Amino acid sequence: MNLLDGKFIAQEMYTKLQSDAAELKNKGIQPKLVIILVGDHPASLSYIKSKEKASQTVGVECEIMKFGADEMDTAKLIEVIRGLNEDDSVHGILVQLPLPKHIYEPDIIKAVAPQKDVDGFTAYNLGKMFLSTRFEDLAPCTPLGIIKMLEHAKIDVEGKEAVIVGRSNIVGKPVAIMLLNRGATVTACHSKTVDLSAHTKRADILVVAVGKAGLITADMVKEGAVVVDVGINRTEDGKLVGDCDFVTVSKKASFITPVPGGCGPMTVACLMNNVIKAVHKQNPSLS
Ligand code: NAP
Repeated sequence: MNLLDGKFIAQEMYTKLQSDAAELKNKGIQPKLVIILVGDHPASLSYIKSKEKASQTVGVECEIMKFGADEMDTAKLIEVIRGLNEDDSVHGILVQLPLPKHIYEPDIIKAVAPQKDVDGFTAYNLGKMFLSTRFEDLAPCTPLGIIKMLEHAKIDVEGKEAVIVGRSNIVGKPVAIMLLNRGATVTACHSKTVDLSAHTKRADILVVAVGKAGLITADMVKEGAVVVDVGINRTEDGKLVGDCDFVTVSKKASFITPVPGGCGPMTVACLMNNVIKAVHKQNPSLS
């Protein structure tokens, strides 16, 4: 078994992104990301901290706009986003999800200008991915991180059976499209799938993004499969684990991502990748 070491690959990405950011600064452009947080969801606070730290590492200015849940509603938040869309000093806008229930997420995501949508969640950026790899401009960060880990390990996905468990708009669906764009034969499973293990057992590449610890056991995995575990779950004793039973699944897998240290660090590094990309998209004369 080989580890798909997201932490290590993310560090390599940072080295490259640091020099990209320095080059932009030499040309008079300070890359800037604005993160909007509404409320005080505990996981969001910790995710924002890691995004802030990554920004510092790369040399991206990171502004956090914090609002109390009761001082914000859908219309007010759209106004804030419109202001940032028009602010030329801001290259990336990230609205930390989940939002409080009284704010309508689809309208908020829609308000972000596609060229500043560094999370890759707008219908425009997601829709473009359907065309081909050439149009995966600002791809969602977790799926992009998965593709980068596979590329780093020189795992060719063409012609392979890829099975994705989970069909969210931010992980499962876009990673399915990205693997399809690269020539894999893709099966997308979800909570209504009948006989999940009949599908997972066929997978040369198995991506699991559900959020249920222990969902995937070794008997559900083909010998030699590449296993990407996106899930993040906290056990009763406070330990972070994925959706796969790592100890047993790793004995059958040819490659596997650890949790923590796999998809998580790659997601943050890909966010930085998208911020730098967004700067170029907004300044076409640079490229
Ligand atoms: P989500 O929106 O809750 O989607 C979960 C998906 O799992 C749904 O499509 C659901 O099916 C499916 N599902 C639920 N129970 C299932 C079962 N028993 N068998 C098969 N499929 C089942 O979650 P998400 O946002 O995609 O995140 C998934 C996990 O990844 C979470 O643990 C999250 O914390 C983690 N995550 C990690 C990162 C990272 O950076 N490492 C980034 C994003 C998410 P239905 O559609 O039918 O309901």
